[in-house]
Amino acid sequence: MDYPLVRECVEVFDSLWPRSLAESWDSVGLAVGDPDAEVRSILLALDPMDSVIAEAVVLGADLLFTHHPLLLKPVNSVSAGTLKGGAVHTLISNDIAAFNAHTNADSARGGVSDALISLLGIENAKPLVPHDRHGDADDAALPTGIGRVGDLAVPTAVRDIARTLADRLPRTTTGVRIAGDPAATVQRVAVCGGAGDSLFDEVRASGAEVYITADLRHHPATEARDTANRHDGRPQLIDVSHWASETVWLEAAAQALEAEFAARGLTVSLQHSAVNTDPWVERY
Ligand SMILES: [Zn+2]
Repeated sequence: MDYPLVRECVEVFDSLWPRSLAESWDSVGLAVGDPDAEVRSILLALDPMDSVIAEAVVLGADLLFTHHPLLLKPVNSVSAGTLKGGAVHTLISNDIAAFNAHTNADSARGGVSDALISLLGIENAKPLVPHDRHGDADDAALPTGIGRVGDLAVPTAVRDIARTLADRLPRTTTGVRIAGDPAATVQRVAVCGGAGDSLFDEVRASGAEVYITADLRHHPATEARDTANRHDGRPQLIDVSHWASETVWLEAAAQALEAEFAARGLTVSLQHSAVNTDPWVERY
């Protein structure tokens, strides 16, 4: 068996979700780990929460691959007495490397928003915010960028889209919520996995009739509805759980990883976290 080293795993990750696609404010890549350590098993999860790190320890995973970064903000100390330092200590003392692909995985083809919009049967959707091509010679390749927009095969009521999402996303306490007119019939769909309330201008410009994202707060949602109602009522809004909207990508990520490791003649076990890191547990 040819097990990869941490550095070879990083090469595989970077080939699928190039770091150059990450937003400038983001933190992606290897946060913890020895590049020369051997990796026999990788645990895939959305969040590097303590409960997930504990799971990696129990499973004997050598590398924890997450979407969200362990260390988004710069740190001055990794004392075990701090929140992040405690996680770093647990990882190092158990020989577990930690890697993440965040906004680079949002932007890449086959990324987070592709996984979300494909739940509605929409494939090859376009980015809501395309990246500059920078003279990319491969014009046949679909452009990368944040969010996706595409058309349903037939016009569909917003509430039916919400029901489909509720069926196809993992079940969460907060569920799937609609702002606007649930009975409105729509065809053009925009999505942004995770918190997408900064993209309303791009959503309107795309002609989307419904916008599916997560973490919609009161003020952005009410202002977006007022703006919509002064025009033609679009886009209607569907709010889903942040965790659910992005965790659907892990399945696609595991498939892409399996193929890429195999193509390089490398063997590694890939396992999905069984921990639900959606923070909300009850609702009354
Ligand atoms: Zn996220």
